[in-house]
Amino acid sequence: MRTFKGGFHVPDGKSLTAEASVEYMPLVTDYFVSLSQHIGKPARPVVNAGDQVVEGQLIAEASSPVSANIHSPVCGEVVEIVKRKNAQGALVDCVHLRSDGKQDKFTYPPLVDPTPEQIVARIAEAGIVGMGGAGFPTAVKLQPRDPVDTLIINAAECEPYLNCDNRVMIERTEAFIAGVRLIAKALSVTNVYIGIEANKMQAYNALLAQEGVIADTKEALQNRKDGDIVVVLLKTKYPQGAEKTLIKACVNREVPVGGLPSAVGCIVDNVCTAYAVWDAVVNGNPLHKRFMTVSGRGIAVPKNLEVAVGTPLSAIVELCGGVNDDTVKLISGGPMMGFSLLDLDVCTTKTDSGLLCLTDKEASTVLPTPCINCGRCAQVCPMRLMPMYIDFYTTVGDTENAVRYGALNCFECGTCAYVCPAKRPIVQSVRLTKIRSKEKK
Ligand code: SF4
Ligand code: SF4
Repeated sequence: MRTFKGGFHVPDGKSLTAEASVEYMPLVTDYFVSLSQHIGKPARPVVNAGDQVVEGQLIAEASSPVSANIHSPVCGEVVEIVKRKNAQGALVDCVHLRSDGKQDKFTYPPLVDPTPEQIVARIAEAGIVGMGGAGFPTAVKLQPRDPVDTLIINAAECEPYLNCDNRVMIERTEAFIAGVRLIAKALSVTNVYIGIEANKMQAYNALLAQEGVIADTKEALQNRKDGDIVVVLLKTKYPQGAEKTLIKACVNREVPVGGLPSAVGCIVDNVCTAYAVWDAVVNGNPLHKRFMTVSGRGIAVPKNLEVAVGTPLSAIVELCGGVNDDTVKLISGGPMMGFSLLDLDVCTTKTDSGLLCLTDKEASTVLPTPCINCGRCAQVCPMRLMPMYIDFYTTVGDTENAVRYGALNCFECGTCAYVCPAKRPIVQSVRLTKIRSKEKK
């Protein structure tokens, strides 16, 4: 099995939902659809209070080259455009929609045998963004400035607890592979890899059962035909799914510090993104719902759900039977890179892969103590940084030195903080330095 240098095996808690088939989240009454659920400028609303909309109708359009369209997740009325708290605690503009329970729907015309340009245009109009968490507009990503010869699909899903990518690969294998082929066609590349961790053998076998999908073995590679997709089995280790570590493990290329995957001829996309591409091209569906895992020992019934964008987290928790009394932490996303929530008064976005309710046995509530210079953080950092110095210089307000020790190259995987015996809040220090450095510029 392939892997990268550094990292750490984190107890993954995936068994709570690994076997749970995806269920549809029933309609609720009120939805708050954020206009800032992607990297880039917020979308510009094209509806007003009192307008009637149908599911899939455009409600906000991309406002700049790096932005994304947003579509209504339900049929109903626009109540207002209002500021609401997002998972990170920031106030963002949201379209408040009230469902009328009807099923009327807008779809784009399905595309048959589309050209690369038609695929990219459809991805843009359908508002597809990277669904692994980053939210970068996919149409922009598929038009890189650098020449690209390789597509890598990130199926590692290395964050503990999460199983939505896993279930998509098991339950919607054919559609997912078709989506991968559409992205490859949009990029005009034939060198395609799917990197998957070894703790997802059911999904791995399902992929290999598809025509034109082969294993990363010497024998299979010798007989590789043009257009075959290669599935690379990766060691189960965090953060195997980070773009740079994934590229290193799959094709042994090293993205330069501060560079993008395209600098080494690669584009990386996520499983749910590939599925959304298939849905938009073949069925004409814009992106207004997504798969997410609701898990942790603090939730009564852990589930994998297909949830409309803008759904209140409180409604999702209610569907899963509520939160147990010993819950001490709520997290949007995975436990390593997700955001601790103050409460459940937040709505889902296109990038939300999970909602976790963790008990005191699963989440640390210990306060940080001074660094003991043990060096463990540096040993596990996949970027080969010295996280203890970034934390130290941030704490004393020395942004220049925190940057010199690589704060801007850190991709906030959280591995260093996880292994730190002093429980130093290293990722928070990195984020603070990034903010200070940006302010300084
Ligand atoms: S310094 Fe950044 S990249 Fe390195 S382990 Fe910590 S969070 Fe991950
Ligand atoms: S792991 Fe924690 S205690 Fe050890 S050197 Fe790094 S910051 Fe200091």
